[in-house]
Amino acid sequence: MRIKDLPAPVTASKADWLPGTAWLGFTPSGNDVAARSQCQSTIQRQFGRGYIIEYATKGFEKPNPGFEKHPAYLMDREKHTNLAGRLISIHKLRTSARKLEIILGPDDFKRLQDMWAQGGKRYRWSVAFPIIESYDIVDRPLAKDILGEASYHRLYRQTSATLRVLNDDERAVIANLELSEAKAVNAWIGIEDEIKMAVDSEIDPRTQRLVDQDLAVLEGMTEERKISLKVRAAWQAGKFVRERQRLGRLTCDNCGFDPTTIFDESQIKPRSLLEVHHKNPLAEGVRYTTIADYALLCPTCHRVEHARLRLTKRS
Ligand SMILES: [Zn+2]
Ligand SMILES: [Zn+2]
Repeated sequence: MRIKDLPAPVTASKADWLPGTAWLGFTPSGNDVAARSQCQSTIQRQFGRGYIIEYATKGFEKPNPGFEKHPAYLMDREKHTNLAGRLISIHKLRTSARKLEIILGPDDFKRLQDMWAQGGKRYRWSVAFPIIESYDIVDRPLAKDILGEASYHRLYRQTSATLRVLNDDERAVIANLELSEAKAVNAWIGIEDEIKMAVDSEIDPRTQRLVDQDLAVLEGMTEERKISLKVRAAWQAGKFVRERQRLGRLTCDNCGFDPTTIFDESQIKPRSLLEVHHKNPLAEGVRYTTIADYALLCPTCHRVEHARLRLTKRS
């Protein structure tokens, strides 16, 4: 898959010398609640509903005295030599920040501050957003080669405590970069938060019924867990259908069937002749699934698809 296949645009970039794997952290201007919430809302506004592209800076920071030979530091520095100056990954962050101390646990948080806190201010990266979806950029190209000199300088010349917001031209030049899915250990945070949102929302019963059928394959979990995952999946499926309605793409993804070629939209709604289908039901509860996991199918293609799935399951 390529960047342009993601279900939302890449809205901003993070430049750092330590690549994020489980979370991305930002350092507020102070350790009080006001400074933290200001930092949090700035970052949220910058990435909005989009993805973040991560750039590894050329330089690598020095740790606090006493840590120059620490194995964790040496390992990070070694890893960095292959990443410096490159576009390395794409992340989706959970929009509600949790304190880094909560995400890491108190011991790891302490170790991180011992090593990297600046001037004794022990709140470095304390505004942290869990990474719930992650992709490696294949071949990790040099940022300058992809973006060109002007954009490269605009985005990364100065250090910044926040993100750098991408413009449409920059989005266009990264659109074809190839991605490979990476494991996001904090996917569960996004899933749990959305289960709560889904339970409180109104879900179309027809969508729920179809999603329930697709998710009948889930095994090895409690009934209660299955129900939670089905509700969240139906909530996502609803988002998927609304997105297709917004785009005016109410046709079968398999055969191209377009209800408006038979009926006038005022007589029969095209949506009523199409069914939502979950393409990767076994991924539910495992990774952070999105609207990209759904298809819109005509009833015949949907039946054929399920027949095919039954056959592959049997063999
Ligand atoms: Zn069809
Ligand atoms: Zn289905």
